[in-house]
Amino acid sequence: MSHRLSFSRLLPCVWWARPDVDCPDDPPGEKAQIGTCVHGLSEEHLTGKVFDRTKHTMQVLTQALDIFKNLKPWLDTWKAQPGQKIVEGRLRYDTEDGRAFPTPRRGEDGYTRPGDSQLTGEIDLVTIYPNEELAEVIDLKTGQKRNSNESQLRGYSVVVKARYGVKHVRSAFLYARKTKLDLEPWMEMDEDALDAEAGKLRRTLRTLPQAKPVKGDHCYRCPLGKSRFGYCPEWVVDDRYAPDPIAEAQLYDDNARLAF
Ligand code: SF4
Repeated sequence: MSHRLSFSRLLPCVWWARPDVDCPDDPPGEKAQIGTCVHGLSEEHLTGKVFDRTKHTMQVLTQALDIFKNLKPWLDTWKAQPGQKIVEGRLRYDTEDGRAFPTPRRGEDGYTRPGDSQLTGEIDLVTIYPNEELAEVIDLKTGQKRNSNESQLRGYSVVVKARYGVKHVRSAFLYARKTKLDLEPWMEMDEDALDAEAGKLRRTLRTLPQAKPVKGDHCYRCPLGKSRFGYCPEWVVDDRYAPDPIAEAQLYDDNARLAF
């Protein structure tokens, strides 16, 4: 079995991503489903690739459409600006040889699990300015800001450099809500910073089989932290046992508060 790490889950603690750790693969909650729909609607709008609405409930779709309506003018402006545009580019990066290449999504023909030295990511919006050897990467978020992770942007920047041969990458999160949009300040990475990050990714993958739990505020975002009570020995802050879902949710909130 291969590891579970991906660019969207590059956290300081990667113990949960070890292949031998029993980590639950929970189905996505409503907020995650809304995010998936907003991404699908955006891709459909920008590329014409049909988004399958039948996989989602009316409640999820309605909320996603509200966000998308607010986002659409911004996407149109982004598309009309100069540069080569890439939308929802799914790339796999090999940390050992530094290659990045397109890969099918899970469930699509030809999909394989990433190898021990590989990471996969779906990069929402990329603009390449070939003459300037510059790329811009935007990661679209519909969730809370506290759950975003700059390591994701740094990782995407490395992949974009590897794939498109640029020397300088700037990246940012774009937060989309029903009534407002918020593009965070750009994070700039030059060639030296990108090479240093590539080395960090290589070390992370090489040492993953021996990774140990590292408790921190990132615990809230790791699958074991999200799995609520009882999975990760480093996460559980006391030995209360909460058998019913409401009490369990309360304990989860308590844990989250203590971790921040
Ligand atoms: S809950 Fe925290 S310590 Fe445990 S695996 Fe997740 S990130 Fe690591």
